Amino acid sequence: MRALTTVVFLFVLVNTALSQTRNVYEIYAIEYAKNPVRKPVSEVAIGANSTDSVTFSFYIWFLNGDNGRKVLVDVGYLRDSTKPLPYLREYQRPDSALKRINVNANDITDIIITHPHSDHIGGLQLFGKATIWMQKNDFSYFVGDAWQKGASNKGLDKRDVQKIIQANLEGRLQLVDGDSIEIIPGIRVFIGSKHTYESQHLLINSKNEKVHLASDDCWFYYNLNYLLSVPLTFNANAYVTQLRRMKTLVADTNLIIPGHDPLVISKFKQVASGVVRIR
Ligand SMILES: [Zn+2]
Repeated sequence: MRALTTVVFLFVLVNTALSQTRNVYEIYAIEYAKNPVRKPVSEVAIGANSTDSVTFSFYIWFLNGDNGRKVLVDVGYLRDSTKPLPYLREYQRPDSALKRINVNANDITDIIITHPHSDHIGGLQLFGKATIWMQKNDFSYFVGDAWQKGASNKGLDKRDVQKIIQANLEGRLQLVDGDSIEIIPGIRVFIGSKHTYESQHLLINSKNEKVHLASDDCWFYYNLNYLLSVPLTFNANAYVTQLRRMKTLVADTNLIIPGHDPLVISKFKQVASGVVRIR
């Protein structure tokens, strides 16, 4: 009898352990547009002395949590923009792009905005049920200082300002204030790159390791490999400091994912057209 009790006890114990969520995520990169025009590397990495050239891919990233959270990192660009990006090719609206892996816009529980450039925030109204996470200083600059005389608003779109203010009025905006903060279980955000006023990059727990989603705090693998800043930043030294930091946050630097590099699609397992599963 005692043996049986022990067996039952062990069975319950193992089952409980197995059913517990670990706050780990399946991570997908979804390419929703391309710019086929080749640019010299020296235009995307300050100080590069290479004759190579690169093209830009445009991504959103989907994180499917074992805790029920379905997180979208950035929401892509919407073609109603006041500042159109005419060079975009093979464009698919971000909510339709998400359907390639059978995820509907209304399934998204959380949106993390890495920075408010129009190719990262423009699709905000497509995901009307989600809680939106954005750095407080990035938000303040975006809706205020950016539009004062003499301020830098390159890459920002006035119509996107109205979208984020509307989300705030609806009670859907969560402002994050600072560095190295776990905003959602298993997802930690970092600041300092100054790609926009307070852009953020993030570290995500996946099943067996951590993945670092750099977004535009690292445009290309080239920036990471040679520790060179992009031209579009408030502080190039700060940008490089964060590239160095990213390398300390992961065991394998292959798991640092840049924001615009087409190589991401060839580097990982393709699970649908233009979609790779990173881990
Ligand atoms: Zn950007």
